[in-house]
Amino acid sequence: MGPLRLLILQATPFCNLNCTYCYLPDKTIRRRMSLEVIEQSVARIVASGLIHKEFSIVWHAGEPLAAGMKFYREADAAIRKHVPAEVKFKHCLQTNGTLINREWCTLFKELPISVGVSVDGPAFINDKFRVDRRGKGSLAQIEQGVAHLRDAGLPFYTISVVTKDAVQQPDAIFRYLYQLGPECIAFNVEEIEGVHESSSLQSVTVEEFGRFMERMHELSFEVGQPNLVREFRHAHAAIMGTVRKVPRGLAMENNPLAIINVDVDGNFSSFSPELLGMKHPTHGDFILGNFLHSGIEELKQSTKFQEMTREIEAGVKACQASCEYFHFCGGGAPSNKLFENGSFNSAETLHCRMTKKVITDIVLSRMETMLAHDLPAEYAELMA
Ligand code: SF4
Repeated sequence: MGPLRLLILQATPFCNLNCTYCYLPDKTIRRRMSLEVIEQSVARIVASGLIHKEFSIVWHAGEPLAAGMKFYREADAAIRKHVPAEVKFKHCLQTNGTLINREWCTLFKELPISVGVSVDGPAFINDKFRVDRRGKGSLAQIEQGVAHLRDAGLPFYTISVVTKDAVQQPDAIFRYLYQLGPECIAFNVEEIEGVHESSSLQSVTVEEFGRFMERMHELSFEVGQPNLVREFRHAHAAIMGTVRKVPRGLAMENNPLAIINVDVDGNFSSFSPELLGMKHPTHGDFILGNFLHSGIEELKQSTKFQEMTREIEAGVKACQASCEYFHFCGGGAPSNKLFENGSFNSAETLHCRMTKKVITDIVLSRMETMLAHDLPAEYAELMA
C-alpha cells in the first residue's frame, strides 16, 4: 500500500461554472474545507508512515479558486506544521481559469502552486460546453485569466474535454490551444461518471477518436514539440520503460493509498479520485472514514476498504490476463470500470480503448515508421 503520491483535497465543492458534462453533484454548495480538516488529514497521514520523500497536494473537485486566496495561505501554513522538513510537497490545482487575476498569480508564485487551466478550444467548441449557470460561454474570461498567467511569466498546462463535437475539429482545437502558450496540452475524454450518466463519445467510433488523436500527434511534430500533448508524453515513457525493461507498474489509481481523496467535510477515500462523492447500487458510497474521527489504521481494518481492494486487484488481474496493452497501461482506472462495466472486477472500457490503446498504437506506429528513417533531433532525444 502506498506510498502516498497524491493527496487530493476538496477546497470547496462550489463552482462558478456549470459545464454540461460535469460529474460533480454539489457544485452550488458554497463551503470551504476547515483548517481543522486540513490539519487532521495531514497529521493522520503523516503519522501513518504513508508519506515518503515527496508527494503532491491537488486542490480539486469544485473550482479551487472559489475558496479564495486567504484560504490557500492558511492551508499551506497548516500543512507545513505537520509535514516533516525533509519531505517535499507541491501544490497543484486545476482551475476553470475564469477567476485568475494578478493577485492570484502572485499567490501561485509565492506558495508556489502549479496551475492547469480547463479550456476546450475555440469559442464554438468551448462555449457550447463550458458555460455558466445562465448558459453563457466562459472563453472570454478564460482568456483573460491565461493572459494574467502569461504576463506573470507563470508556466501552465491546459486540459480539454474531448466530446463528439471536438473529434471533428482537431486542427482548430490544437492551433487554438497552442497559441495560448501552455507547456503541456492534455485531453480528457468525456466520461460516464457520477451524475453525468452518458457521453457524446458513445456515438463516436474508436477509429474516429483515433484519427483525432493522430492528427494531434502530427500537429505536435509540425510545431516542433512532439511531446507537447500529455497523452503521447505518457505513452512514450511507458513504451520506452518497457524497452528498457522498467515496466511502468500498476496505474496509480489501482494502488491502495497511493491516492487519498478528502472531501470538504473530511470524509476520505482512495483509488480513483472520482469515487469520492459517488454512490453505487452495490457499494453505496465510497467513503472509507473521516479524518476528524479516524485515520489510516482504522481504514486498513475496514471491510469496505478490503473489499474494494480485492475487487480492484481482481480487475487488474483480468486486465493482465486479457490485454496486450497491460504493460503500457497498468490496469486502467477503477472508476471507469465500475461506471462503464458495473464492476471494479472487469477489464476493457471505452475509456481505456480511447486513452490507452489508441494512443499506444499511434505512438508505436510512428516510432516504427521513423526508425526506418532518420529521426528528427527532438524525437531521437525522446527515444534515447
Ligand atoms: S488498456 Fe484497458 S483492458 Fe488493457 S490493461 Fe488497460 S484498462 Fe485493462
